[in-house]
Amino acid sequence: MPEGPEIRRAADRISKVLVDRAIVDVYFSFPRLSKYAHRLKGSMVTAVDSRGKAMLTRFNNGLTLYNHNQLYGVWYTVPRDRLPKTARSLRVALHTAAHSALLYSASDIDLLTDQQITEHPFLSRLGPDILDQKIAASDVVDRLNDVRFRGRTIGALYLDQSFIAGVGNYLRSEILYTAGAYHLDKPKALDKTIVTRIARATLHVSRRSFRTRGVTLTQKLASSLRSRGLPYQQRRFWVYKRAGLPCYACRTSIVRASVTGRALFFCPTCQVAKAEPRTNDPPVRRIN
Ligand SMILES: [Zn+2]
Repeated sequence: MPEGPEIRRAADRISKVLVDRAIVDVYFSFPRLSKYAHRLKGSMVTAVDSRGKAMLTRFNNGLTLYNHNQLYGVWYTVPRDRLPKTARSLRVALHTAAHSALLYSASDIDLLTDQQITEHPFLSRLGPDILDQKIAASDVVDRLNDVRFRGRTIGALYLDQSFIAGVGNYLRSEILYTAGAYHLDKPKALDKTIVTRIARATLHVSRRSFRTRGVTLTQKLASSLRSRGLPYQQRRFWVYKRAGLPCYACRTSIVRASVTGRALFFCPTCQVAKAEPRTNDPPVRRIN
């Protein structure tokens, strides 16, 4: 499933062809939405925003097109009247004089007023957006220390969209690895330094992935892997989908675990539990 950085890039791509332009034709495949087509025709798009993994296309008549693409939905932007080659089902088409923005396969689509956005069951629960430039590491620290979240394992927290919106499966593994954090630790048992490190990694890794089109490795390492001929999918991540391959920092084999029903990847040497029970024995356990 696309995560915050992928959704934001799609929103930026759609913005380029729709914002400040008149919508000259509209199509909805769902009968419950087709009544809105004539209301959007002739309106202008004022912004295309992302909120976590949801996208909001805002029109100057007060309506907003909401879509959450789940696993299969995808937006295409094409010159007007040139349909992409795809076997997917067209759900929404927004046409300007020069371009079309086409949403395929998604099923979670709605037209909302500002009031309905405020009350929306999914949007109203979302935590701060991972790519919101106004969010600072201190805000993430505050959330980790919040009574609603501090007693839960960080592995579970990082897929909860009410904690922070936009983190999905690959960002979760990559953030925790970058912070040297162990997924079964709970914020309340971690010292301030580690909590701060997790907060900084949260923003740093997500923003880097947005800038680099989905690469969380440093540019130097990614370039080095590229020069060795590795394909794109094998030169993106520190740990995600690298089970059995050596950690880039310590050469230990990366391990795959299942956390909240989804795969999480970690290095058992770089990411050891920091919240071991404090007893005289045994000494700190290391898993090798
Ligand atoms: Zn390691």
